[in-house]
Amino acid sequence: MCVMEPLIIIGTGLAGYTLAKEYRKHDSYSPLTLITTDDGRYYSKPMLSIGMSRKQIDTADAQEMAEQLNATILTNTRVTAIDPQHHLIKIGNDELRYRQLVLAWGADVLQLDVQGDGTEEIYSVNNLQSYEIFRKAVSGKKRVAIIGSGLVGCEFANDLIAAEHHVELISQSHSLMPKLLPADVAAPLQSCLQTLGVRFHFGVGLEEVNRIENGLELTLTNGKLIHTDVVLSAIGIKPHITMALEAGLEVNEGIQVNHLLETSAPDVFALGDCAEVEGHVLLYVAPLMACAKTLARTLAGHPTPLRYGPMPVGVKTPICPVVVCPPPRGCTGQWQIHAEGLDVRACFVKDEKLFGYALTGRYVKEKYALNKQLTIN
Ligand code: FAD
Repeated sequence: MCVMEPLIIIGTGLAGYTLAKEYRKHDSYSPLTLITTDDGRYYSKPMLSIGMSRKQIDTADAQEMAEQLNATILTNTRVTAIDPQHHLIKIGNDELRYRQLVLAWGADVLQLDVQGDGTEEIYSVNNLQSYEIFRKAVSGKKRVAIIGSGLVGCEFANDLIAAEHHVELISQSHSLMPKLLPADVAAPLQSCLQTLGVRFHFGVGLEEVNRIENGLELTLTNGKLIHTDVVLSAIGIKPHITMALEAGLEVNEGIQVNHLLETSAPDVFALGDCAEVEGHVLLYVAPLMACAKTLARTLAGHPTPLRYGPMPVGVKTPICPVVVCPPPRGCTGQWQIHAEGLDVRACFVKDEKLFGYALTGRYVKEKYALNKQLTIN
C-alpha cells in the first residue's frame, strides 16, 4: 500500500491555521501536519494589543484544533532545516517527508541596541507567550515606557492607559505610525492619546536602561531621563528568512513567492509575515487571509492566482478610531486631506484615481464606500 506523505505547514499562527481551515474546505481527508515551536494554541494576534484592558484573550488549544482540522499538530517542536531537493524537513536529527510544504513561520522581532544593567526588563510582544510574559511583568506595576510609535506601540499606549497605567511613548520618528498615516491623520490620534495622559518623546531613541531603587531609569539619546517600571519595545519585526536562505530559496526582504504563493523550490509555498508576495511584504491580517484562501485551492489541486481586494487596517485605538488602506509602495500620488477637528478624511489620489485612504473619527464609516472606489493594481 502506498502511504501518502502529508502536506506540512510550518507555523500555527493566523497564517498557518487559516490556511489549514481553508484547505479542509476543499480536502477533508489528505494527511495534514502542522508544526509549531509554541504550544499550538489558536488565538487572534491583533487582540494582544487590546488585551491589557480585558480579562483574557480567547484561545483554542492544539488538541481542539487537531480534531477540528483532522490534522496532526506537533507542538513545542522547532524545525531546524528544510531540504526541498529531497522533499523533507529536519527537526534536529529527525526527518519528516512532505508532499507539499508551506512556510508560515512568521517574523522575528527587531531588537533594540541599548546599554545598561536593566536591559532584561525590556519586553516585546509578537505572540501569545511573549504577551503573557509581558502581562505578568506589568501586573502590579504602574509605569510603562513604550519604544516605537507604529501600530502596535499606539494600540498598546491606548490599552495600557485604559488599564490605568502611566504611559511614556518614545519614538525616533516625529509622528505616530509614520509608515501608515500621513501626519494630518496621525495628529488627531496623538492629541486624543495625549488627552488620555500618554506622554510623547518624539525624534529620540533609547540609549540606556538601568536599574534604580524604585524601577528603571531610561536615558534617551537627547540626554533626557525617564523613570519607569517596565519597557515595551515595539520597534517592528522582519520576516524570518534564515532557514529559507540556507535551503537555497530565493529571498529578498521576505521569502519570495509568485502569484500562486510558490517559492523558488518545487512544492514549497509561503504566506503570512515570512513571505514577500510578488515584491510586497505586508505584515497584516487581511493579506494573509487572501493568501490562505487562494493557496488552499492551489494545494487542493486547483491552481488559483492571488488577487488582493481592498485591505484596510483598523487601528484599535478606541479613543480615536482610525482606519487606513495604505497606497501601494512606490505609488507616486498625493494625499488630499479634509479635516474637521479630530475627524479627518485623507485620500491618496493619482490621475484622479483613488489608491489609498486614511480616516479618523466619524469618517471611519466611509471606508466601505471608499473600498468600492479603490484602484487595485
Ligand atoms: P505568527 O503569528 O508569528 O506565526 C508564526 C508561527 O510559526 C508560530 O506558530 C511559530 O511558533 C512558528 N514557527 C516559527 N519558527 C518555527 C520553526 N523553526 N519551527 C516550527 N515552527 C516555527 N495586523 C492587522 O492586520 N491588524 C491589526 O490590528 C494587527 N494588530 C497586531 C497587534 C499585535 C500586538 C501584533 C504583534 C501584530 C498585529 N498585527 C495586526 C499583525 C498580524 O497579527 C500578523 O501579521 C499576523 O498575525 C502574522 O501571522 P503569521 O501566522 O504569519 O505569523
